[in-house]
Amino acid sequence: MVTQAKLYSEQCRTYGQWINGKEIKAENLIERFAPESGKVVAQFAEGTKEDALLAIENAKETFEAGTWSRMPGAERAKILARWARLVEEESELLTRIEIEESGKIRRVAEGDIAGTVDLIVYASSLANQVSGQAYMDIGEGLNAFVVKEPAGVVGAIVPWNFPTIIFGQKVPLALAAGCSVVVKPSEFTSGTAVELARLAKKAGVPDGVLNVVTGYGVPVGQTISESADVDVVSFTGSTRTGQLIAQGQGTNFKKISLELGGKSAAIVFEDADFDAAIDGVLFSIFLHQGQVCCAGSRLLVHENIAEKFVHALKARAEALVTGPLDDAKTEVGPLVSPEHLKIVQGYVSSAIDDGAEVICGGKVTQQAAYPDAPAQTFLPTILNGITPAMPIFYNEVFGPVLTVTKFSTREEAVKLANDSNYGLAGSVWTENIQTAFYVAQRVRTGTIEINTCLEGKPQLPFGGYKASGLGREKGLTGLEEFTETKTIGLRVSPKKGFFGG
Ligand code: NAD
Repeated sequence: MVTQAKLYSEQCRTYGQWINGKEIKAENLIERFAPESGKVVAQFAEGTKEDALLAIENAKETFEAGTWSRMPGAERAKILARWARLVEEESELLTRIEIEESGKIRRVAEGDIAGTVDLIVYASSLANQVSGQAYMDIGEGLNAFVVKEPAGVVGAIVPWNFPTIIFGQKVPLALAAGCSVVVKPSEFTSGTAVELARLAKKAGVPDGVLNVVTGYGVPVGQTISESADVDVVSFTGSTRTGQLIAQGQGTNFKKISLELGGKSAAIVFEDADFDAAIDGVLFSIFLHQGQVCCAGSRLLVHENIAEKFVHALKARAEALVTGPLDDAKTEVGPLVSPEHLKIVQGYVSSAIDDGAEVICGGKVTQQAAYPDAPAQTFLPTILNGITPAMPIFYNEVFGPVLTVTKFSTREEAVKLANDSNYGLAGSVWTENIQTAFYVAQRVRTGTIEINTCLEGKPQLPFGGYKASGLGREKGLTGLEEFTETKTIGLRVSPKKGFFGG
């Protein structure tokens, strides 16, 4: 059921803040220029510090009142299940917003919305399962319960690359745990967050439990992350902003989870299924134009197959289809903004100055359907001859740029993969189970996949080692991020006084 979807050439959507179950119109608006058309596609309220404080106050009040936090888990589960159905019914609207605001190709945008529905369904299945342990007779007459309680008010700060699915990785589990939430979406891509909050209200989430404050990182994100009334900060974004958020905590000991940048390796051995490895490497770097935190941006390939592999990759990368985002055949879209395009170009030209060989791409092209829009499509790029002496081996480009480095032994492959400040994800391609496990057990990343990549499912915890972050999202571990553990001791017979009383 499409309620509001319109082509961006026809209509610009305007969003206010979503606080206490109502949309509040704003004085100042942030305009979003669609990456594909260059036209203003949406206007978001430019949130103030006061807006953020009002949303936090509402979240705190509802949390303390127990309207959601003390609601039986089965009731919360039903409401979340209803929310999932409503989101599914509005898939076309949400898909279109993803295409227009973030510059996604239709297939990826549709996958994001379906994935978000799955995340809400998963959270619904856990809402009635938040449990603990009972310990009976653990001392003379002593019993105890270790219980999980909702952690309180959650501040969820979301980036622009996957605005809907990252909202989906945070908010449904926080709600399943019984928390109240204040979401701060990216200033580039706020539309789906407000739409999802509207649908949550329709599903029965009480007013004030889920709030969305749009606007810039400073003041909105900063106010949320530094507020003493926010008990959990769940942040996804760049390592630089993650560092600022961690520093901003000062002596405050709130729970904090940080999902940050990455520079993941795809490690291809000579015995790999060649075609499957080609498909996997292409997908893991060129999905959403490489603007993916866990993108396989470093190809480490065995020296005996390197030439043949890079040759085959080049042919496939050059054949990827650019075209209208809404066309099911299109595989490559524009980068999120002209500023981001400049950053990506800068990384590539520095790498060329450092001696990288351009196998393909490295150029900007016009979006086919919009000849008058700023050209923002960076062609899939492969840079060969990359060594750890070059900065491009370490820096997160966050664009469609694959670097190629050769290795000769599995030990060297692991050493190269671990030669990074980041530790988010990676993949290993081989038909030898011993090689696969040798690598999987030694690569220091939160996720490593064997003969596949980017398979994120709601049950699977996701997060990073080292500069890729703190904590995990999704799965049972993800639910724990939104709970506190309490020990309740119960003595059924009086204890004789320790001091002889
Ligand atoms: P960003 O850090 O610039 O912004 C992320 C969010 O933080 C935005 O909503 C922004 O407005 C807000 N923000 C900015 N300054 C803030 C501050 N001082 N205090 C609080 N909030 C602030 O990141 P981005 O450019 O939107 O996203 C790209 C980055 O996100 C990449 O580095 C990518 O690797 C990372 N990312 C990580 C994951 C993961 O799960 N590890 C997933 C997606 C993206």
